Amino acid sequence: MPRDHDLLQSVFGFDAFRPGQAEIVSAVTAGENTLAIMPTGGGKSLCFQLPALMREGVTVVISPLIALMRDQVRSLQAVGVEAGALTSGNTEGETDAVFEAIAQGRLKLLYMAPERLASGGTLTLLRRAGTSLIAVDEAHCVSQWGHDFRPDYLRIGDLRRALDVPLAAFTATADAETQAEIVQKLFDGAAPRTFLRGFDRPNIHLAFAVKDSPRAQIMNFAAARKGQSGIVYTATRAKTETLAQALREAGHAAVAYHAGLESDDRREVERRFQQEDGLIVVATVAFGMGIDKPDIRWVAHADLPKSIEAYYQEIGRAGRDGAPADTLTLFGPDDIRLRRAQIDEGLAPEERRAADHARLNALLGLAETPGCRRQALLGYFGEEAEPCGNCDCCQTPPETFDGTVPVMKALSAALRTEEWFGSGHLIDILTGTETDKTQARGHQNLPTWAVGQDLSRREWQAVFRQMMGLDLVRPDPARHGALRVTEKAHPVLRGEENVTLRRDTIRTSKSRPLAKA
Ligand code: ADP
Ligand code: ZN
Repeated sequence: MPRDHDLLQSVFGFDAFRPGQAEIVSAVTAGENTLAIMPTGGGKSLCFQLPALMREGVTVVISPLIALMRDQVRSLQAVGVEAGALTSGNTEGETDAVFEAIAQGRLKLLYMAPERLASGGTLTLLRRAGTSLIAVDEAHCVSQWGHDFRPDYLRIGDLRRALDVPLAAFTATADAETQAEIVQKLFDGAAPRTFLRGFDRPNIHLAFAVKDSPRAQIMNFAAARKGQSGIVYTATRAKTETLAQALREAGHAAVAYHAGLESDDRREVERRFQQEDGLIVVATVAFGMGIDKPDIRWVAHADLPKSIEAYYQEIGRAGRDGAPADTLTLFGPDDIRLRRAQIDEGLAPEERRAADHARLNALLGLAETPGCRRQALLGYFGEEAEPCGNCDCCQTPPETFDGTVPVMKALSAALRTEEWFGSGHLIDILTGTETDKTQARGHQNLPTWAVGQDLSRREWQAVFRQMMGLDLVRPDPARHGALRVTEKAHPVLRGEENVTLRRDTIRTSKSRPLAKA
């Protein structure tokens, strides 16, 4: 496994890169001048934090907002990364600690506001510190025509020339003029490696299905694509073996792959997969990291992936050549229990576990979205899109109904409890289920108490998952996954917009297993 991926997991606690991150991380680590344009919330900070850990010396991060810098420094320190900030908000002790870490050659990331570059000593300090990379957050602040112009950003070009180190610039502003200005002012007009590609992979067909007979569902999917190279991801090692066996019995060329194999055997599978046509690899997530095969025609998930990031990364291995590729992701209540248990039993600190649950919830929302899956997927990564026409929901729209009333009730339960609770407790309120917690907080006196008795618990869980998929509520890792009401919910609350929900996962027959919240 490449080292960047190790650090991604061990330091940052993420199981997969988000769209675009892997490529940017590797360019920045290699010391290329880069300009990366990513939507807000897309995960820019990782794109310089991870390279900073992989490179010798100190990475200087220029960022316009003190609060943001302090925030990032705090989270980095919390996971054991040597990071510090020199800002006007520092206590004397904090500043001393930064200087000491520099003196001892320990510091990896040094954040500072652009204003600091005006002071004469800064260049000397950065030289002495062994600065090997400059990262510029919110790089559009260098643009004189933009409304975020910060004159001191113009000093960054001088700094780069003086230190003669690579520079990585990040922004969410994609217009061509701003880009040109960034290139002019930060890179002296020498075009950096630029990452602007949208995250969409329009040739990949997206589909989800509730597990009813999972083995047959995968076998049918593979049978319809016989002779094509494909990957089946499963949640356990044992299942890779049994499924590979079943596929072979059905006449496919199929092999199992998991971390328990000898490394020689693993390499052999990788080699065969690269070279042979039409091989199916049945694998745990360990497979695919180093694989660069452009003509993988399909990816199936026999079990629900860990997170929406893992899902995106795994389906993204299909169709790199741009030709049509197919995907299918199965999910059922057992998967969700398994994934939840894996998170809860993990050794991660509480805060990280809450974030992991939130990422799993986002994937469940995608699994049950009534609308275009691509729109929901890209929306999660901050990118807007039109309905794609290349997903199961676009092609066979699920039966829907006007869910505005239950959604309003749910939103109001969240708001009346100040967005401090997860769906379990909110459902207790909606269904009027007394628990120690509802009693302790006096929630039976809320106007929303028991207003949702027309739906069962299970049905409410489906409503909440869909609301998550529609981004009307978002679990807040900082509040242990409590649901926060998003901007997108405001027009609904004001009665200006209706909400359409999927019927199939709400009014279910007993034979149709439902995912659990
Ligand atoms: P921005 O691009 O707006 O600067 P951030 O760097 O603040 O975005 O990242 C946004 C959020 O995404 C953060 O909560 C961060 O922890 C999370 N994040 C970043 N990379 C990943 C990843 N690979 N997997 C899961 N979450 C990630
Ligand atoms: Zn679609």
